[in-house]
Amino acid sequence: APGLYLVATPIGHARDITLRALDVLGSADLLAAEDTRTLQKLMQIHGVGREGRALIAYHDHSGGAAAARIAEEIRAGRSVAYASEAGSPLISDPGYRLVAELARQGLPVTVIPGACAAVAALSVAGLATDRFLFLGFPPAKAAARLSWLAAEAHGGATQVIYESPRRVEDLLVALAETHGEDRPVALCRELTKSYETVLRGSVAELLEQVRETPPRGECVLVVAGAAPEGAGAEDMETALVNALERLSM
Ligand code: SAM
Repeated sequence: APGLYLVATPIGHARDITLRALDVLGSADLLAAEDTRTLQKLMQIHGVGREGRALIAYHDHSGGAAAARIAEEIRAGRSVAYASEAGSPLISDPGYRLVAELARQGLPVTVIPGACAAVAALSVAGLATDRFLFLGFPPAKAAARLSWLAAEAHGGATQVIYESPRRVEDLLVALAETHGEDRPVALCRELTKSYETVLRGSVAELLEQVRETPPRGECVLVVAGAAPEGAGAEDMETALVNALERLSM
């Protein structure tokens, strides 16, 4: 059927792709990718041929012309598969402008869900998952990063942060300041790849570990949410009983 198909691709392990994603990559009339070479390589691994179909690059910033072409193809009744370099398109990756524009024009957009580093990290981190906040990449500059983190220090939801391995130590130093060095965290590295590791502990403990062995490869930091003010279920119960007593007086 005509429309844009947002295809999730693996975040490391080439086999982490869905059968439906391979079907769509094999049958779409036009292929679009953040990185055309990565997509081509992935299709080769899975024996999905191009068969003369065009493969175009799409980025949000240089995307005006590509977006217009994609919209035109869809209006002409064709299907377009779009993949970002890794994982789920639009998640700290290009595609948002394209989807917003197609939606504005009333053209069909379909998601072919699959791997996403944020969700994979949450699954394995061992921290609460009932509420979480995806923060993406922190600002690179120290002062900006500190205020960006400080804004989230009291939030109760688990926080998910993407960071380059060279900056993980600085990120933990900043977190010690904003969230406190006892806050539980998990550093999820190279998920689904051969050197996958998950370090779990307090900010202070992880800081010690990354100072000893600087992390390499792709990293997601998962940070526990702040404990509720006054903590303890008992405190909460007492507070509730007191409040009810005041009400009935
Ligand atoms: N769209 C991707 C997704 O669905 O997760 C994210 C793209 S973003 C440009 C790349 C960042 O995702 C990396 O810097 C890292 O923080 C995280 N990431 C991607 N693959 C990863 C992996 N295998 N293990 C750990 N983190 C990963």
